[in-house]
Amino acid sequence: WKQALPSLAALVAVGRSHGPAEFLVYEDERATFDEWHRAVAALAGALRARGVGKGDRVALAMRNLPEWPVAFFAVTILGAICVPLNAWWTGPELAYGLSDSGASVLIADAERLARILPHRDDLPAWRHMIASRVEEARPAGVERLEALIGATADWGQLPDAELPVADLSPDDHATIFYTSGTTGQPKGALGTHRNLITNIYSASFAAARAALRRGEAPPEPEPKTILLAIPLFHVTACSATLMGAVAAGHKLVFMHRWDTLRALALIEREKVNATGGVPTIAWQLIEHPERERFDLSSLELISYGGAPSAPELVRKVHELFGALPGNGWGMTETMATVTSHSAEDYLNRPDSCGPPVPVADLRIMDPDGERELPVGAVGELWARGPMVVAGYWGKPDATAATFVDGWVRTGDLARLDPEGFCFIVDRAKDMVIRGGENIYSSEVENALYEHPAVTDAAVIGRPHRTLGEEPVAVVHLAPGAEAGEEELRAFVRDRLAAFKVPVRILFLDDHLPRNANGKILKKDLAPLFAAT
Ligand code: ATP
Ligand code: MG
Repeated sequence: WKQALPSLAALVAVGRSHGPAEFLVYEDERATFDEWHRAVAALAGALRARGVGKGDRVALAMRNLPEWPVAFFAVTILGAICVPLNAWWTGPELAYGLSDSGASVLIADAERLARILPHRDDLPAWRHMIASRVEEARPAGVERLEALIGATADWGQLPDAELPVADLSPDDHATIFYTSGTTGQPKGALGTHRNLITNIYSASFAAARAALRRGEAPPEPEPKTILLAIPLFHVTACSATLMGAVAAGHKLVFMHRWDTLRALALIEREKVNATGGVPTIAWQLIEHPERERFDLSSLELISYGGAPSAPELVRKVHELFGALPGNGWGMTETMATVTSHSAEDYLNRPDSCGPPVPVADLRIMDPDGERELPVGAVGELWARGPMVVAGYWGKPDATAATFVDGWVRTGDLARLDPEGFCFIVDRAKDMVIRGGENIYSSEVENALYEHPAVTDAAVIGRPHRTLGEEPVAVVHLAPGAEAGEEELRAFVRDRLAAFKVPVRILFLDDHLPRNANGKILKKDLAPLFAAT
């Protein structure tokens, strides 16, 4: 894989070369690279026999199960487009993804299948439904995945067949991943084989560059054990973690759903070297009351991105685990990583998400998109590189507005420092404008996070008759911790200009509502202030 891979078919061949090494661990199920490869070949053959070919959309609706990476590669090496659907979605949301993408085949786990079946008649493109881990007695027209590839334990008995690979080029479409839906309706981002492969190279280029900055030789990639704490239906887990694992021979330990105590036990049992994904995961590991019961000394890296993280977190990760913290910025439209850094670079700049990976360009533009702004100025972040997707599926207007001459307009506000490190300041949509003064919600949130009692904080704008908007906050406190509204307001006032201090702070007994990517759903918080 040190030479350029033209497509995911070439990547699967690299995966096969790791042979007997363990690849997928889920509960008491374990599969080697060889066994996974046999299952991919068997499923791809079965899909081809059912008429699946280039350009067809095949939806994949399941939580993290060993058959997820089997289905993903079986679909994409046929030249079909894999559409991973968010496993958190309700029936109507799953039906939206299926009809929006025009999927003709669905591969689902039992829980997703049960949610989708009531909507079956509204989905005209429908041809085949394949379900894993369903009972023998099942609805008419549903095939069992196990009838095609067996259960995980059977994969070693499948024939070591050649892959039925389509004629693929790097610009062929491979995936439609949906954006998280943090700011509105999720949009399908149309990814290419090149987009997915890019993550493998950008990660190793970034590691090499960081070593060179320290005056060391670039590291030889070696197989690691990774606890996959985030769902494969988002780009970070799929295109950063899964692609990298197939290339380098990493072992992936799956969790069906995130559970902090279980994660701690798995880190100890499997001697996990790296985990993370989103900042919430790191916070939950830090705060778990039984953390010290476990031997976590195998951990080398806890990295995250996808959402703003308080600078506090970097220091805590390093202090408590000895592991190096890492941060990266990306979006579904860039198929994961565009910037990243870790170790000293991150510890020295705890509020940065790193410099662009060596194959990406960044620039900061004025709000109209007319003029590039100088170093240090805050404006809209634009990104360019081989990771930028081909556009939004079926949305020509949104595509034209977002993708301009190879650049993606990210909707994030950021600044660059003279060394090229990027600092995300806020989402443009989350900035509160109070009487003409800009208030970056994440700056105020970070001030709240410095208070030891605060574990969740969100700052939003509330309409105000003369000022336009004013900042208000919602917080959740650590179990047993106490802090009053006036105390927190005074705490923020000691750190930030008075106009940034939230005029109201509400306390929630529960954690703030988040989507599957760990992002706080601010659009759901505004109604809380309606009555205050
Ligand atoms: P939607 O576009 O549907 O509203 P979304 O933007 O949350 O949802 P994603 O593509 O999953 O969907 O997330 C990308 C966004 O996540 C970025 O635009 C940015 O706002 C945020 N983000 C990603 N990485 C970081 C990071 N390291 N620091 C701060 N914010 C980040
Ligand atoms: Mg977005």
